[in-house]
Amino acid sequence: MIVTKLKPLKEILNILKEVDKIFLIGCGGCAEACETGGEPQVRQLEQELKEKGKQITGWVVIDSLCNKALVGMRLAYRLREISKADGLLVLSCGVGVQAVAATVDKLTFPALDTISLGGFQGIWPSSERCYQCGECILYLTGGICPLTACAKHLLNGSCGGSDKGKCEVHPDRDCAWYLIYERLKKVGRLDILRKIAQPKNYNKMEASQEIRTSTYWALEFEEAKDESA
Ligand code: SF4
Ligand code: SF4
Repeated sequence: MIVTKLKPLKEILNILKEVDKIFLIGCGGCAEACETGGEPQVRQLEQELKEKGKQITGWVVIDSLCNKALVGMRLAYRLREISKADGLLVLSCGVGVQAVAATVDKLTFPALDTISLGGFQGIWPSSERCYQCGECILYLTGGICPLTACAKHLLNGSCGGSDKGKCEVHPDRDCAWYLIYERLKKVGRLDILRKIAQPKNYNKMEASQEIRTSTYWALEFEEAKDESA
């Protein structure tokens, strides 16, 4: 299981500063188990955002957002509400946010931060990866994680070695920042590239005392121990 925590409302509102109409997407997998992304949390956030003047065009909770085939199928039924939205706000781990961003041509924002589980990654069926950095910045990168997609974990654009869209370190792979540029261009928001991502505070990867004393944290550590035995 991937552990997540809700970003403070102030931060979510800041992320959504230029977005008025929002479609909310929760995750009925790990995020629901962490009580950060199931139906009660989606409805609560819907209410809070409405009170702050945002228009919610609809919401849905999908069993496992890390399964892109499932995400595509479930969102296909909600295209009318999604098309009315300026952006999608996703209550899931970084993998789920990336899976949604890869499936729908809409700007996609993370409502949660993904916390490190001491190196235990879990298993998911899609190619997207999350470094569990504790401070999700997918709203700055078109829903592509620069920490996992870029070989040098660069936060503010490509290195000098990017060559015709390919990575200097892994020439067989696309440069992450080429992909980020193309994604932002597709959703008409290249202006986001002018925003500067701050240096990472890796202290935020660490789970808080509140999370460490929760039942799901204890269960996850037991599972992680069993898997490594
Ligand atoms: S920025 Fe990347 S590593 Fe950090 S939480 Fe988001 S997806 Fe995970
Ligand atoms: S070429 Fe692109 S993906 Fe590769 S290290 Fe440089 S910025 Fe990162």
